[in-house]
Amino acid sequence: MGVALEKLPGIVERFPGGSVAVTQLDQAINLARSNSLWPLMFGTKCCAIEMLMATGAAHHDLARFGAEVARASVRQADLMVIAGAIVKKMAPRMRLLYEQMAEPRYVIATGSCAISGGPFMYNSYTIVRGADEIVPVDVYVPGCPPRPEAFFWGLMTLQKMIREGETIREPGIRRKPVMAALPEDVSMHDIRREICSALIEDNVVDVAKAADEKPWARKVREWIQKSSSR
Ligand code: SF4
Repeated sequence: MGVALEKLPGIVERFPGGSVAVTQLDQAINLARSNSLWPLMFGTKCCAIEMLMATGAAHHDLARFGAEVARASVRQADLMVIAGAIVKKMAPRMRLLYEQMAEPRYVIATGSCAISGGPFMYNSYTIVRGADEIVPVDVYVPGCPPRPEAFFWGLMTLQKMIREGETIREPGIRRKPVMAALPEDVSMHDIRREICSALIEDNVVDVAKAADEKPWARKVREWIQKSSSR
């Protein structure tokens, strides 16, 4: 069986009759880790149908990325894919599950609900406004729900980050999150601010203007004017 040497991290020395690959153990381990992520089964809402079911099925085939071995036990998983909204009662359990996962562990937040609370971010007393309030998130995949292709892009972004040297996260150090499939200069706060101002705008009603647009309101006004002029 041939080995694609150009895919290996490190230096490849070519000699007549063969090649020698020289690398660091860390780089080789990171390469192996990035290609053998084991996701935790953690679907909390409708995004789970796209993320954990459609991506794993034959058409999209998560196995191509070495991440198809979804685990029901946190001790055997190193990737938490948060697919759906997190309710406040669930937050402490989610943190506990994260703590119990094998190190080094990674988190992908998929969908608007996991990123910011989504449609429930405004005026909801039950939904957490973003999974990153509970656990450190490595990659955000936006959408409602994101398509499986978008999830794959997020997974490939994470694999690249791992290959590039995220061997072990130091305690207390939070990795800068990456937004998969959006420009680099768009931050989570920009998205939250935009959603929030759009929702406030939608909820401001000019009563006089709204009444003018309703045919029944015009009729009532005409009737009042007619009766008062008698
Ligand atoms: S982002 Fe959309 S599809 Fe995903 S859990 Fe929220 S409402 Fe459902």
